[in-house]
Amino acid sequence: MVVPELPPDIAELKERVGRFVAEEVFPLEESIAAAGEIDFAAVDEVRKKARAAGFSMLNMPEEAGGAGLSMLGQVALEEESGKATNGLGFAVVDRGPAELWEILTPEQRDRWVVPILRGEYREAWAVTEPGAGSDVSAVAATAVRDGDEWVLNGEKWFVTSEGNPGFYIVLAVVDGEQTLFIVEPGTPGLELTRVPGFLHDPYLDHHPELVLRDCRVPDENRVPAGGNEGAKEWFLVERLFIAARCCGASERALGIARDWRSSASPSGSQLPSTKASPSSSPTPSRSFSQRGSSRTTRLTRSTPTRTARSSTGRWRRRSSSPPRPRGASSTAPSRSSAAAAT
Ligand SMILES: Cc1cc2nc3c(=O)[nH]c(=O)nc-3n(C[C@H](O)[C@H](O)[C@H](O)COP(=O)(O)OP(=O)(O)OC[C@H]3O[C@@H](n4cnc5c(N)ncnc54)[C@H](O)[C@@H]3O)c2cc1C
Repeated sequence: MVVPELPPDIAELKERVGRFVAEEVFPLEESIAAAGEIDFAAVDEVRKKARAAGFSMLNMPEEAGGAGLSMLGQVALEEESGKATNGLGFAVVDRGPAELWEILTPEQRDRWVVPILRGEYREAWAVTEPGAGSDVSAVAATAVRDGDEWVLNGEKWFVTSEGNPGFYIVLAVVDGEQTLFIVEPGTPGLELTRVPGFLHDPYLDHHPELVLRDCRVPDENRVPAGGNEGAKEWFLVERLFIAARCCGASERALGIARDWRSSASPSGSQLPSTKASPSSSPTPSRSFSQRGSSRTTRLTRSTPTRTARSSTGRWRRRSSSPPRPRGASSTAPSRSSAAAAT
C-alpha cells in the first residue's frame, strides 16, 4: 500500500499540533504522574489554548463553523494527539460530532450540537451493551412509543465521557429497527450504575455503565433516520482514530527507546548488557514506560477501582474505596457546562 504524502497545509497543521502537544501537554503528564490523578483545571487551560490556536472542531462541516478537514487530515492530527498519555490529546484535537450532525434535524442540531461547538459540553455515545460489543446488531435495548413519548429500557456499557456529558446518544431497537435517542442526564429512569477502573487511569475520560428503566423521552429526542448507520459510522471513525493515536503513541515510545539507547552508549555501537548491575544501568531520559507500569499495577480487572465524582463533575479515581456492588446506583450526572472529551 502506498501512503500518500500529506498535502502541505495538513503537514503544517500536523507539525503545529505536534509542537503544541510536546510543549503544553508533555509537562502536564509529569505532574499527573506525580499526583496520580488528572489536574482538570490545568487540562481546561490546555483546551482553551488549543481552541485559541485553532485546533478545535476542525472536522465539523463549514456550515457548522468547522473547517471540513479531510479524513486524511483528521488522521494526521489524531496521530499527534496519541503521543500524549492520559488521554490528554483529546483536549488538543477537540473533534465535534460530525457523524451526528449529518443525521440530526436542524432543530436538534441547534439545541444539542451547537453548545458542543461552543465548547460548553460533549456528547456521550451509549451503544455497547453486555451482550453487544463488536456485533452492534445484537443490541437489545428497546424503545416503545407511548403517545408523544418513547419509553427506553436497557443497559449500556463503556459510555465514554469526561464526567458530565450534555447528552447521551442511546441506541435502541424499535420494531426491529435500530434507532438513536437523545437522553439528557437527570432524565428519570436513567441511572449511572458503575464507573469501572481502567488500566489507562488516570485518564481524561471514564467509561461508566448506564441502566435505562422505563426512561421516557419526548419524540423530539428521537433521531429521525439512520440509527443503525449513525452508530456504525461513529464506530468506524472512532476505531480509525484509535489506530491513528496508537501509531502516534508507538512513534513516541520508539523515540524514547531510541533516545535511551543513544544515551546508554555514546558510541551508538553497543547494546547495553541486560546483566548490568542496577548502579551501572543507564537511566532512561524519560520515565514514560515506568510511570505507565506503576499505574497498571494499581488497577486490575479483578479489583475494579471505583471513581468518585468531584465537585467539578469530573470522575476522580478513589483507589482506597471498596468496589461498589453491581447494580448499586448513583444519580446520573447533571447537565453542566463542563467541556468533556469523547
Ligand atoms: C476505552 C474504551 C472506550 C469505549 N467507549 C465506548 C463508547 O463511548 N460508547 C460505546 O458504545 N462503546 C464504547 N466502547 C466499547 C467498544 O466499542 C467495545 O469494547 C467494542 O465494540 C468491543 O466489544 P466488547 O468489549 O463487548 O468485546 P467483544 O465484542 O465481546 O469481543 C471480544 C473479542 O472477540 C473478538 N470477536 C468478537 N466477535 C467476533 C467474531 N464474530 N469473530 C471473531 N472474533 C470476534 C473481538 O475482536 C475481541 O477480540 C469502549 C471500549 C473501550 C475499551
